Amino acid sequence: MAHLLIVEDDELLRDGLCAQLVNAGHTVCSAPDGAQAQTLLEGTRVDGVILDLGLPVIDGVSVLRWIRQRHTALPVLILTARDSVEDRVQGLNAGADDYLTKPFNMAELLARLQAMLRRARLPAFGGSLEVEGGGAKSLRLDPVQPLAWLDDVPMELTQREWALLTLLVGNMGQVVSREDVLGVWQTQPLDGSSGGSNALEVYVHRLRRKLADSGLNIRNVRGLGYMLETEAK
Ligand code: CA
Repeated sequence: MAHLLIVEDDELLRDGLCAQLVNAGHTVCSAPDGAQAQTLLEGTRVDGVILDLGLPVIDGVSVLRWIRQRHTALPVLILTARDSVEDRVQGLNAGADDYLTKPFNMAELLARLQAMLRRARLPAFGGSLEVEGGGAKSLRLDPVQPLAWLDDVPMELTQREWALLTLLVGNMGQVVSREDVLGVWQTQPLDGSSGGSNALEVYVHRLRRKLADSGLNIRNVRGLGYMLETEAK
Protein backbone atom coordinates (compact mmCIF):
# COMPACT_ATOMS: atom_id res chain seq x y z
CA MET A 1 0.00 0.00 0.00
CA ALA A 2 1.22 3.45 -0.85
CA HIS A 3 0.08 7.02 -0.30
CA LEU A 4 -0.32 8.60 -3.71
CA LEU A 5 -0.94 12.05 -5.13
CA ILE A 6 -3.08 12.29 -8.28
CA VAL A 7 -2.71 15.55 -10.24
CA GLU A 8 -5.31 15.72 -13.01
CA ASP A 9 -7.57 18.57 -14.12
CA ASP A 10 -10.19 16.33 -15.75
CA GLU A 11 -12.56 15.81 -12.83
CA LEU A 12 -14.10 12.58 -14.13
CA LEU A 13 -10.72 11.02 -14.77
CA ARG A 14 -9.36 12.26 -11.43
CA ASP A 15 -12.27 10.82 -9.46
CA GLY A 16 -12.06 7.57 -11.43
CA LEU A 17 -8.33 7.27 -10.77
CA CYS A 18 -8.78 7.97 -7.06
CA ALA A 19 -11.55 5.36 -6.77
CA GLN A 20 -9.52 2.69 -8.60
CA LEU A 21 -6.38 3.34 -6.58
CA VAL A 22 -8.30 3.20 -3.30
CA ASN A 23 -9.83 -0.05 -4.57
CA ALA A 24 -6.33 -1.36 -5.18
CA GLY A 25 -5.50 -0.72 -1.52
CA HIS A 26 -3.74 2.65 -1.77
CA THR A 27 -4.58 5.89 0.00
CA VAL A 28 -4.83 8.97 -2.21
CA CYS A 29 -4.92 12.73 -2.22
CA SER A 30 -5.58 14.73 -5.37
CA ALA A 31 -5.14 18.13 -6.95
CA PRO A 32 -6.82 19.67 -10.04
CA ASP A 33 -3.89 21.94 -11.01
CA GLY A 34 -0.15 22.37 -10.59
CA ALA A 35 -0.33 25.04 -7.88
CA GLN A 36 -2.56 22.94 -5.62
CA ALA A 37 -0.30 19.95 -6.24
CA GLN A 38 2.70 21.94 -4.98
CA THR A 39 0.80 23.11 -1.90
CA LEU A 40 -0.20 19.52 -1.14
CA LEU A 41 3.34 18.23 -1.60
CA GLU A 42 4.71 20.88 0.75
CA GLY A 43 2.51 19.60 3.55
CA THR A 44 2.12 15.90 2.82
CA ARG A 45 4.52 13.02 2.47
CA VAL A 46 3.58 10.79 -0.48
CA ASP A 47 5.15 7.61 -1.87
CA GLY A 48 4.40 8.36 -5.51
CA VAL A 49 2.76 10.87 -7.87
CA ILE A 50 0.56 10.39 -10.94
CA LEU A 51 0.94 13.63 -12.84
CA ASP A 52 -1.00 14.81 -15.88
CA LEU A 53 1.24 17.07 -17.99
CA GLY A 54 -1.54 19.24 -19.44
CA LEU A 55 -2.53 21.19 -16.32
CA PRO A 56 -3.93 24.68 -15.67
CA VAL A 57 -2.17 27.35 -13.52
CA ILE A 58 1.22 25.57 -13.42
CA ASP A 59 1.83 22.98 -16.14
CA GLY A 60 2.86 19.40 -15.43
CA VAL A 61 6.47 19.64 -16.61
CA SER A 62 7.04 22.66 -14.33
CA VAL A 63 5.50 20.74 -11.42
CA LEU A 64 7.78 17.81 -12.24
CA ARG A 65 10.90 20.03 -12.25
CA TRP A 66 9.75 21.54 -8.97
CA ILE A 67 9.33 18.04 -7.48
CA ARG A 68 12.79 16.96 -8.67
CA GLN A 69 14.45 19.95 -7.01
CA ARG A 70 13.01 18.87 -3.67
CA HIS A 71 12.53 15.11 -3.86
CA THR A 72 15.20 13.47 -6.00
CA ALA A 73 13.83 9.97 -5.51
CA LEU A 74 10.04 10.45 -5.39
CA PRO A 75 8.52 8.16 -8.07
CA VAL A 76 6.51 10.12 -10.64
CA LEU A 77 4.39 8.61 -13.42
CA ILE A 78 3.27 11.13 -16.04
CA LEU A 79 0.11 11.06 -18.17
CA THR A 80 0.32 12.57 -21.64
CA ALA A 81 -1.86 12.91 -24.71
CA ARG A 82 -1.28 10.18 -27.27
CA ASP A 83 -0.14 12.54 -30.03
CA SER A 84 2.32 14.58 -28.00
CA VAL A 85 5.65 12.79 -28.28
CA GLU A 86 7.35 16.08 -27.40
CA ASP A 87 5.53 16.29 -24.06
CA ARG A 88 6.56 12.77 -23.24
CA VAL A 89 10.21 13.38 -24.06
CA GLN A 90 10.15 16.65 -22.12
CA GLY A 91 8.55 14.86 -19.17
CA LEU A 92 11.09 12.04 -19.14
CA ASN A 93 13.93 14.55 -19.46
CA ALA A 94 12.49 16.49 -16.52
CA GLY A 95 12.77 13.36 -14.37
CA ALA A 96 9.60 11.28 -14.78
CA ASP A 97 10.08 7.60 -13.89
CA ASP A 98 7.47 6.29 -16.30
CA TYR A 99 4.63 7.52 -18.52
CA LEU A 100 1.28 6.44 -19.91
CA THR A 101 -0.51 7.97 -22.88
CA LYS A 102 -4.21 8.80 -22.70
CA PRO A 103 -6.53 7.04 -22.98
CA PHE A 104 -4.92 4.34 -20.90
CA ASN A 105 -6.07 1.04 -19.52
CA MET A 106 -6.58 1.09 -15.74
CA ALA A 107 -5.04 -2.36 -15.27
CA GLU A 108 -1.93 -1.19 -17.09
CA LEU A 109 -1.74 1.94 -14.95
CA LEU A 110 -1.94 -0.16 -11.76
CA ALA A 111 0.75 -2.55 -13.04
CA ARG A 112 3.09 0.30 -14.07
CA LEU A 113 2.49 2.03 -10.75
CA GLN A 114 3.30 -1.12 -8.77
CA ALA A 115 6.50 -1.65 -10.78
CA MET A 116 7.53 1.98 -10.25
CA LEU A 117 6.94 1.83 -6.49
CA ARG A 118 8.79 -1.49 -6.27
CA ARG A 119 11.79 -0.08 -8.13
CA ALA A 120 11.87 2.89 -5.79
CA ARG A 121 12.18 0.53 -2.81
CA LEU A 122 14.72 -1.84 -4.33
CA PRO A 123 18.24 -1.66 -2.91
CA ALA A 124 19.82 -3.50 -5.86
CA PHE A 125 20.96 -2.23 -9.26
CA GLY A 126 21.82 1.28 -8.16
CA GLY A 127 18.50 1.81 -6.42
CA SER A 128 18.54 3.35 -2.98
CA LEU A 129 18.37 1.55 0.34
CA GLU A 130 15.38 2.58 2.41
CA VAL A 131 14.02 1.80 5.86
CA GLU A 132 11.05 3.14 7.76
CA GLY A 133 11.61 4.31 11.31
CA GLY A 134 8.63 2.68 12.97
CA GLY A 135 6.24 4.85 10.99
CA ALA A 136 8.05 8.02 12.06
CA LYS A 137 10.41 8.87 9.20
CA SER A 138 11.92 7.04 6.29
CA LEU A 139 15.67 6.88 5.81
CA ARG A 140 17.02 6.53 2.31
CA LEU A 141 20.65 5.95 1.38
CA ASP A 142 22.42 6.35 -1.93
CA PRO A 143 24.18 3.02 -2.61
CA VAL A 144 27.25 4.61 -4.21
CA GLN A 145 27.78 8.15 -2.99
CA PRO A 146 27.87 9.32 0.65
CA LEU A 147 24.33 10.71 0.51
CA ALA A 148 21.32 10.00 2.68
CA TRP A 149 17.90 11.51 3.23
CA LEU A 150 15.46 11.51 6.14
CA ASP A 151 12.00 11.99 4.65
CA ASP A 152 13.70 13.43 1.55
CA VAL A 153 15.63 15.98 3.62
CA PRO A 154 19.37 15.51 2.93
CA MET A 155 21.44 14.43 5.95
CA GLU A 156 24.91 15.81 6.53
CA LEU A 157 27.11 12.75 6.65
CA THR A 158 30.81 12.11 6.34
CA GLN A 159 32.04 9.24 4.15
CA ARG A 160 32.58 7.03 7.22
CA GLU A 161 29.25 7.89 8.79
CA TRP A 162 27.53 6.98 5.52
CA ALA A 163 29.48 3.69 5.28
CA LEU A 164 28.54 2.81 8.87
CA LEU A 165 24.89 3.73 8.30
CA THR A 166 24.76 1.71 5.04
CA LEU A 167 26.11 -1.32 6.88
CA LEU A 168 23.56 -0.92 9.69
CA VAL A 169 20.63 -0.39 7.31
CA GLY A 170 21.68 -3.38 5.18
CA ASN A 171 21.67 -5.51 8.33
CA MET A 172 18.61 -3.96 9.98
CA GLY A 173 17.65 -5.91 13.11
CA GLN A 174 20.93 -7.85 13.12
CA VAL A 175 24.10 -7.18 15.05
CA VAL A 176 26.96 -5.61 13.12
CA SER A 177 30.30 -6.29 14.83
CA ARG A 178 33.10 -3.77 15.37
CA GLU A 179 35.22 -5.87 13.02
CA ASP A 180 32.56 -5.63 10.28
CA VAL A 181 32.55 -1.84 10.55
CA LEU A 182 36.35 -1.52 10.66
CA GLY A 183 36.63 -3.86 7.66
CA VAL A 184 34.27 -1.69 5.61
CA TRP A 185 35.99 1.49 6.77
CA GLN A 186 39.32 0.23 5.43
CA THR A 187 37.82 0.40 1.94
CA GLN A 188 36.60 3.98 2.46
CA PRO A 189 38.58 7.14 1.91
CA LEU A 190 39.41 8.97 5.15
CA ASP A 191 37.23 11.97 5.84
CA GLY A 192 39.59 13.92 7.99
CA SER A 193 38.20 12.78 11.34
CA SER A 194 40.65 11.47 13.90
CA GLY A 195 41.06 7.73 14.43
CA GLY A 196 41.80 6.23 17.83
CA SER A 197 40.41 3.39 19.86
CA ASN A 198 37.08 5.04 20.63
CA ALA A 199 36.52 6.32 17.08
CA LEU A 200 33.68 3.91 16.32
CA GLU A 201 31.84 4.94 19.49
CA VAL A 202 32.22 8.57 18.46
CA TYR A 203 30.73 7.84 15.02
CA VAL A 204 27.85 5.87 16.51
CA HIS A 205 27.16 8.70 18.93
CA ARG A 206 27.12 11.23 16.07
CA LEU A 207 24.84 9.05 13.94
CA ARG A 208 22.44 8.62 16.86
CA ARG A 209 22.20 12.40 17.13
CA LYS A 210 21.56 12.71 13.41
CA LEU A 211 18.87 10.03 13.60
CA ALA A 212 17.11 11.67 16.55
CA ASP A 213 13.30 11.75 16.03
CA SER A 214 13.63 9.47 13.00
CA GLY A 215 12.15 6.46 14.81
CA LEU A 216 15.42 4.62 14.19
CA ASN A 217 17.85 3.78 16.94
CA ILE A 218 21.36 2.32 16.99
CA ARG A 219 21.46 -0.13 19.88
CA ASN A 220 24.70 -1.04 21.58
CA VAL A 221 24.71 -4.84 21.93
CA ARG A 222 27.26 -5.31 24.71
CA GLY A 223 30.34 -7.25 23.66
CA LEU A 224 28.96 -7.91 20.16
CA GLY A 225 28.50 -4.65 18.28
CA TYR A 226 25.68 -2.44 17.09
CA MET A 227 22.21 -3.01 15.73
CA LEU A 228 19.84 -0.66 13.91
CA GLU A 229 16.28 -1.05 15.11
CA THR A 230 13.03 0.86 15.09
CA GLU A 231 12.38 2.64 18.35
CA ALA A 232 9.61 1.25 20.53
CA LYS A 233 6.79 3.80 20.62
CA1 CA B 1 -5.18 17.66 -18.61
